[in-house]
Amino acid sequence: MRYVQIDTQSDPLSSSYPSSENQKDLSRILARELKAMGIIDAHMDEWGYVYATIPSNSEKAVPVICFCSHVDTAPDASGSGVKPLLHKNYNGKDIILPDDDSIVIRKKDFPYLKRLAGHDLITASGTTLLGADDKAGVAEIMDAANFLMNNPEIKHGTVKIVFTPDEEVGRGTDKIDMKKLAADFGYTLDGGEAGSLEDETFSADGVKITIHGVITHPGAGKGKLVNALKIAGKVLTSLPKKKAPESTEGRKGFIHPVRVEGIAEKCTIDMLIRDFITDELKNSEDELKNLVEDKIKKIPGARFDFKITEQYRNMKEMLDQHPQVVEYAKEALRRAGITEVKMESIRGGTDGSKLSFMGLPCPNLFAGMQAIHSKKEFISVQDMNKAVETIVHLVQIWEERTSADITTSIS
Ligand SMILES: [Zn+2]
Repeated sequence: MRYVQIDTQSDPLSSSYPSSENQKDLSRILARELKAMGIIDAHMDEWGYVYATIPSNSEKAVPVICFCSHVDTAPDASGSGVKPLLHKNYNGKDIILPDDDSIVIRKKDFPYLKRLAGHDLITASGTTLLGADDKAGVAEIMDAANFLMNNPEIKHGTVKIVFTPDEEVGRGTDKIDMKKLAADFGYTLDGGEAGSLEDETFSADGVKITIHGVITHPGAGKGKLVNALKIAGKVLTSLPKKKAPESTEGRKGFIHPVRVEGIAEKCTIDMLIRDFITDELKNSEDELKNLVEDKIKKIPGARFDFKITEQYRNMKEMLDQHPQVVEYAKEALRRAGITEVKMESIRGGTDGSKLSFMGLPCPNLFAGMQAIHSKKEFISVQDMNKAVETIVHLVQIWEERTSADITTSIS
């Protein structure tokens, strides 16, 4: 509740790093609090990242595990002047927020609320988002760190902590120092309901289609002028409807035009290509290219360029090479008393997908946040406690499962 009162909204229009200086206000506090716990190397760097190391207390060579969450909040709703409210022993009814009674958290919109009757809930007051995304993750990692520092009898390997800025504007890993982090595996705490574990994201490419027409004075255009804008229109209307984001869900990918720019002579179309299966991206791209070719080949003088850019890849490709990362997370959830582990696939990308391909396989654990990026955001304190327990179990599992034959030179 203290962290959410610090405005850390990131700014998609800014080109500086971090995108808003106020994110450092929270990062600075976190570094100071970690230091106060006795974590000597805790610090914030010039970009607003916080790094900290809880040293190993095991004689085994346990892989270095990192926990990661982001300090910024989404630009979708105001993050300034957040007034967190604690609803103790929630009565299970719709929640009307006091500062704007038109903002009502309704059970029919958020079925998960039913499971939270009797929990202590935190909401904002009606005029701002709460910022549980991702200050819940931050608070949980802080609490787990504090617990580990105060309970040295709990065996664990080296535990790394990193708090990142600018996740919400897609730049959360831009300035991360992987050498300094020096972790083998990671977990982001940036997920929803208790027990959810996300190990899969889309694979993503961007395609830029440039259509070249033939330009003449329109008064003398007969038989010569070829208008690139009209060809672009034909391409757009003939896109496969079955592969549109409007008509796909679950594990289906899509082709999605996001920007058209041009004049009669030349026009570009930017497209997003998404699929959980990376090889399927190529199929969609071939289909798209054939479609453009088909529209253009009948028009003398017209031509086109087709440029594919890789954006990010499904983290599962990396995680499947290290199945213990997800397996241990499931075991930690079970030990935290969660009977039903909910494996989920994200129809988008996360910092974890980028980290996974930067050499840090990194699934996403639940943090408990609900109705994110909105004024109706809420979270259960009990769910947050479950997340803390999960972290503490997880570091112990990594230690237990490391063979005793491999020892470090720890004295
Ligand atoms: Zn988040």
